[in-house]
Order: sequence, then structure tokens, then C-alpha cells
Amino acid sequence: MTDLRALLAPIRERLAAATKLGEWEVRGKDVVIYDPNGYGAHRIVAWVDHAEYTEPIANAPTDLTRLLAAIEAVTGLHREGTRDFITALPCIREECDCENECPTEELPVCRHCWNQLEQIDPYFGEQHHVSEVMWPCPTATAVAAALGSDTTNQEGTQ
Ligand SMILES: [Zn+2]
Ligand SMILES: [Zn+2]
Repeated sequence: MTDLRALLAPIRERLAAATKLGEWEVRGKDVVIYDPNGYGAHRIVAWVDHAEYTEPIANAPTDLTRLLAAIEAVTGLHREGTRDFITALPCIREECDCENECPTEELPVCRHCWNQLEQIDPYFGEQHHVSEVMWPCPTATAVAAALGSDTTNQEGTQ
């Protein structure tokens, strides 16, 4: 399972590099960075032929910042944790002689999905219906798939 935050890091780095000299602003159809000393535009971000392209380009840093924050809110909730599980078959079937001392195994779970399920049914963990809360959970898997692998994610970098 790829680290979701690691997938976001190159996007965040590209955004920081592109905006470190100032905000992207609209001048006519073009997108520019104005000189902080008041001498007009000192960087052209994009010369734009058709006005419909101006807004998406000019708003890209703001939109990207918001989308990154939205994804980080999700990945902040759906994080890897661990729980101890009874995994030996005789123990699960309650055919063992452990007398409440059954051996456990530490397995990865999604903290958020676990907590959600636990609120609905505090005893779900004992019933071994836990596949939906194992790590990576369906939400984490979907986010990772949408972000692409480490390699495709790096493609814009030079
Ligand atoms: Zn989850
Ligand atoms: Zn046992």
C-alpha cells in the first residue's frame, strides 16, 4: 500500500515552486505574477490565446490548494493503525482450551473505518466481520487509485 501523503508530496512541491514568487493574477487574457515592488508584471505564467483558458490557469494554485486540503482531510481520517486479532481457527470456532487467553496477532486496520463500525456495533470485532476495516480500507484504496502510482504521479517533474 502506497503512503497516500507521499503521493501528495510531489503535487504540493510543484505548486510551491510555481507560486513562490507571488500569486497568479489575470492581466487581460494572460496570467502573470506582479512584481512585489510595483513595477508591473515581472513573470508571465501563461500567454493565453482564448479567454476561456484564462480562469482555469489563473485559479489553478487556489483550486489545487483546496483539492489538496480536501484529500488530506480524507487521508487524515483514513489512516493505518493496528488491532490485535484472534486468528487461530480453533480459537475463532471457540474449540480451543485457551481459557480466555487466546493468542492474538497484530494486523493493520483503518482507524476511522474501525471506529465507525465500532460505534454501530461494539462487538463487531469479535464476530470477525472485519474485512471492510482492514488496511487499506476501500476509501484509502480509492484515493490511492485516483492519485496514481508513485511513478505516474512524478511525470510532470523535470
Ligand atoms: Zn478507512
Ligand atoms: Zn484459543
